[in-house]
Amino acid sequence: MLTKFETKSNRVKGLTFHPKRPWILASLHSGVIQLWDYRMGTLIDRFDEHEGPVRGVHFHNSQPLFVSGGDDYKIKVWNHKTHRCLFTLLGHLDYIRTVQFHHENPWIVSASDDQTIRIWNWQSRTCISVLTGHNHYVMCASFHPKEDLVVSASLDQTVRVWDIGSLKKKSVSPADDLMRFTQMNSDLFGGVDAIVKYVLEGHDRGVNWASFHPTLPLIVSGADDRQVKLWRMNETKAWEVDTLRGHMNNVSSVMFHAKQDIIVSNSEDKSIRVWDATKRTGIQTFRREHDRFWILAALRLFLSILHTIPLVVVESRSEVDEVKELVTIVKEYVLGLKMELKRRETRDDPVRQQELAAYFTHCNLQLPHLRLALFSAMGVCYKARNLATAYNFAKRLLETNPMESQAKTARQIVQAAERNMTDATELNYDFRNPFVICGSTYVPIYRGQKDVSCPYCTARFVPNQEGNICGVCDLAVIGADASGLVCSPSQVR
Ligand SMILES: [Zn+2]
Repeated sequence: MLTKFETKSNRVKGLTFHPKRPWILASLHSGVIQLWDYRMGTLIDRFDEHEGPVRGVHFHNSQPLFVSGGDDYKIKVWNHKTHRCLFTLLGHLDYIRTVQFHHENPWIVSASDDQTIRIWNWQSRTCISVLTGHNHYVMCASFHPKEDLVVSASLDQTVRVWDIGSLKKKSVSPADDLMRFTQMNSDLFGGVDAIVKYVLEGHDRGVNWASFHPTLPLIVSGADDRQVKLWRMNETKAWEVDTLRGHMNNVSSVMFHAKQDIIVSNSEDKSIRVWDATKRTGIQTFRREHDRFWILAALRLFLSILHTIPLVVVESRSEVDEVKELVTIVKEYVLGLKMELKRRETRDDPVRQQELAAYFTHCNLQLPHLRLALFSAMGVCYKARNLATAYNFAKRLLETNPMESQAKTARQIVQAAERNMTDATELNYDFRNPFVICGSTYVPIYRGQKDVSCPYCTARFVPNQEGNICGVCDLAVIGADASGLVCSPSQVR
């Protein structure tokens, strides 16, 4: 199930699922925390007391509480039933990255850019331990699901496992906590109650995330070195087991699935990867490319039109002409969208990128779509320092009377090009010379060059495509000596 949540406030920094209800809390860059019902797709409530981005949120597993931590150095505990912030925990000296409730004890663990991890008792509202040792931002910290351990990840390139057993043994009465906190302060955060058990070294860049396996003595971590690492531990030591490679950019978070034997990782390469935790191989990659989704949806729609038309029976000659015109219009869109998909697959080939973007502007599109194609081609060519070509698209775009935001960019590109009317690379694209685009190879067929065509959709092709199935409509054989579209008895008389 995929549900899209519309919100004006830009980026989501933290998420937590309610343990029982179909609720999700989203903490935003704007400082607002939103409570959504993800089955209904409705915003239930919003909590707005933090100043600046809120990166960490977590639901309590039994009480109507959640905790949040923000760039204002504040940890807030909220009752979502009464819609109140109950209290604020102060102590961190920099941004707070993650916050988490303990599954049993009245504790919260928090990770901060001040290089410390803190454990708080939310009943006595005091800090009961400060875990020091990391020497860069601590990006995340979480309790072990059963044992008295905390795992943390830091930009100092290490993952650390902390033993908090002594914390648990001591009383958790408010008075004791207060006393311990005073003593701890006098110890200058000596970390008397929690000791680092293991320091896991192996990542070559900052580590963004580390989490425990729900039942096995395993840890998984993700880092700016684009790697996911698997670690094992026993009573006395912890060691690296394997590295999962495949992400093309920083890995921002990674965890074991609660029930299945899989690892899920999220990266700045805009993909989520699913790995087999035992075989340590990639199972699936989900790419977050919304554009691609819409192009595919549009393509499917146009193709279904092309495939339905042969079943249409009309009476008069003029209706036959109308149907044929519809086929030609739809054919242009199918060709254009297929080139757009191809362009997205050739991101590592800037020349081909520009060519495909350029050809798209020569498909016979409706004006709003032509503007989009021109705007895209203009941007792609400008980025590749092909200023003269970008200038041409900018001029064509301005002629279509576009909306002001597009016009502004176009005028800026015209100005930049007028100072330096050159192209950095040569493209197979001569806009002065009329052409059609081959429906299979996506190269221009300039006027006067030989071509063959599809008898049904009329798409054109370079001669060596003769005999193949048409790559545009997927229906007819290219160059076949057929009568074309027959949809009226009047045509065969
Ligand atoms: Zn065709």
